[in-house]
Amino acid sequence: MIELDGVNKWYGNYHALSDVTGSVTNGEVLVVCGPSGSGKSTLIRTINRLEPIQRGTIRIGGEDIYKQGKDINALRAGIGFVFQQFNLFPHLSVRQNITLSPVKVGGMSRAQADELADALLAKVGLAHKADAMPANLSGGQQQRVAIARALAQRPPVILFDEPTSALDPEMVGEVLSVMKQLAQDGMTMMVVTHEMGFARDVADCIWFMDEGKIVERARPDKFFTSPEHPRAQKFLSDILRPHSVSSH
Ligand code: ADP
Repeated sequence: MIELDGVNKWYGNYHALSDVTGSVTNGEVLVVCGPSGSGKSTLIRTINRLEPIQRGTIRIGGEDIYKQGKDINALRAGIGFVFQQFNLFPHLSVRQNITLSPVKVGGMSRAQADELADALLAKVGLAHKADAMPANLSGGQQQRVAIARALAQRPPVILFDEPTSALDPEMVGEVLSVMKQLAQDGMTMMVVTHEMGFARDVADCIWFMDEGKIVERARPDKFFTSPEHPRAQKFLSDILRPHSVSSH
């Protein structure tokens, strides 16, 4: 589904992605984790060309996304992307947020798109909010609308960039449970997250990044019980150990 081959990216002189090679297969849930600044967000953003790369290739469904003449809007419309900051259109109702792309880009009729939106809202537990405006929803509800909007594009894969990081803690669970449901439905997903419980329960594979490289890739049972790379060992012990409070 997604194939990365020797992907390199620089921000000016800064080497943000260094020879990243790997693939995500159909129906797989990949979790990308690692310390802050390790390149996770940069990596996931290259996959729908929100960030250009300087070397290497990225293929989706076998097609090079940097191929000359590739329609970038069609590419983005064909991949679901869920951002940390929901990014709903504030002036559109929940239903309109979901129907916009299917109608404008997908050429779907208004009636059909409304029906699809209502079905997707039911799926994310928000059937009763179709006519609400985003500002009147909680963060968790907004993120579930954003997931429904991504699904409305009927994408073969959905990319999630820290989907719960901007949420109050009590809302994290509702978003993760929708994501877990998607995974159980067989959706192909690439998820940048610090939610290690989700990674352990839902991921098929984990990539651990450090300094722009994937330094460890493993199944969750292996990753959480016996990580090999020292940086992964430290990351897990920092994240899984209760926070100690400094006494001075
Ligand atoms: P992560 O998602 O793992 O926290 P990022 O992909 O956001 O990491 O960032 C990787 C590195 O690239 C960081 O050192 C960050 O400061 C740098 N970086 C990210 N975006 C930009 C940008 N637009 N311009 C310059 N440097 C950037």
